[in-house]
Amino acid sequence: MSDKTALITGITGQDGSYLAELLLSKGYLVHGLIRRSSTFTTQRIDHLYQDPHEPDARLRLHYGDLADGSRIAALLEGIKPDEVYHLAAQSHVRVSFDEPEFTGTTTGLGTTRLLEAIRMTGLPCRFYQASSSEMFGTTAPPQSESSPFHPRSPYAAAKVYAYWITRNYREAYGVHAVNGILFNHESPRRGETFVTRKIACAAARIARGEQDVLHLGNLEARRDWGYAPEYVDAMWRMLQQDEAGDYVVATGTSYSVRDFLSFCFEHAGLDWERHIRFDERYLRPSEVPDLVGDASKAEGELGWRATVHAPELARIMVDAELAAVPIAASERSLTGA
Ligand code: NDP
Ligand code: GDP
Repeated sequence: MSDKTALITGITGQDGSYLAELLLSKGYLVHGLIRRSSTFTTQRIDHLYQDPHEPDARLRLHYGDLADGSRIAALLEGIKPDEVYHLAAQSHVRVSFDEPEFTGTTTGLGTTRLLEAIRMTGLPCRFYQASSSEMFGTTAPPQSESSPFHPRSPYAAAKVYAYWITRNYREAYGVHAVNGILFNHESPRRGETFVTRKIACAAARIARGEQDVLHLGNLEARRDWGYAPEYVDAMWRMLQQDEAGDYVVATGTSYSVRDFLSFCFEHAGLDWERHIRFDERYLRPSEVPDLVGDASKAEGELGWRATVHAPELARIMVDAELAAVPIAASERSLTGA
């Protein structure tokens, strides 16, 4: 068991929750950054909650926001983590077209605020940056660590900035800072406005007779969809390397949104073509057509390989929705993202 201390930003998100589980299972003391909200946002980590009054509590949460550099520096100074996993971001591509400036401030500059806090405090901690396959944009597949970036959204542009500032702190100040260039990864904990979860939820609701129609945008886009619990293991492996580097994490196969639809609906016993309607609100001003990652560096250096591919992922996600207690319509997203 490890006696290390980790700080996870974005601990309430999909990846943060799986990573917290993984690190706690390895014996880490896990600190998480959460932002104050008028409603609770900790559903994904409630099962990990430990009474902070217990002296041996291994999970500790702290309020903070990526926009607030002095708070981040104060937290780092107090926690003195061995490893920082920076996962927090405005992570939705479509939303980034509506909120480009906010996306730049959080998804882009948030990384600088953390790295600068590490530099100023002089802590010898290792740093993980949640980089994204979206950075490749229209670059032809397969995409690897040496493929050129061509960001196609404010989100992707912010991630390219964050990628380079991470490399710069490695080169300029010797920070053990790595970029995990993760291709899309999904799970039953994926946000409901991402296409895989949106489809899995709809398939279950239609199968239960609670919904009849699902509105979607571009069905032709192709993505390399993997399973999130496997991907957080790759993050941890990156920070255990003696030398910091950048790694693509992917399954190496791509499927279209249409393919994913058919996997989910067939598994729920439905004919998707009877239920799908097009809605241009879900189109992006510029689209990323085809992402397929070449993860051979991660396989060779980290000993990591994806085992779950899109057809199985679809079954996992639909099964989870079929087993879940239905939520009230008023709790669902009404924002068109
Ligand atoms: P989620 O959207 O599920 O989680 C994002 C997290 O960031 C949440 O905990 C959210 O908090 C937090 N957050 C957002 N804004 C702020 C802020 N201003 N201050 C503090 N915290 C904030 O993302 P994922 O778990 O799916 O992804 C994790 C990271 O990996 C993200 O950076 C994402 O861009 C990146 N990534 C994800 C991929 C994927 O396929 N999932 C692929 C490649 C990269 P709250 O709960 O309060 O909203
Ligand atoms: P992204 O790859 O990070 O943008 O992940 P998303 O899950 O948001 O989108 C994946 C692909 O699905 C993109 O090419 C979208 O254009 C496409 N897509 C089609 N319809 C929808 C929809 O209704 N919602 C979302 N989020 N994406 C959609």
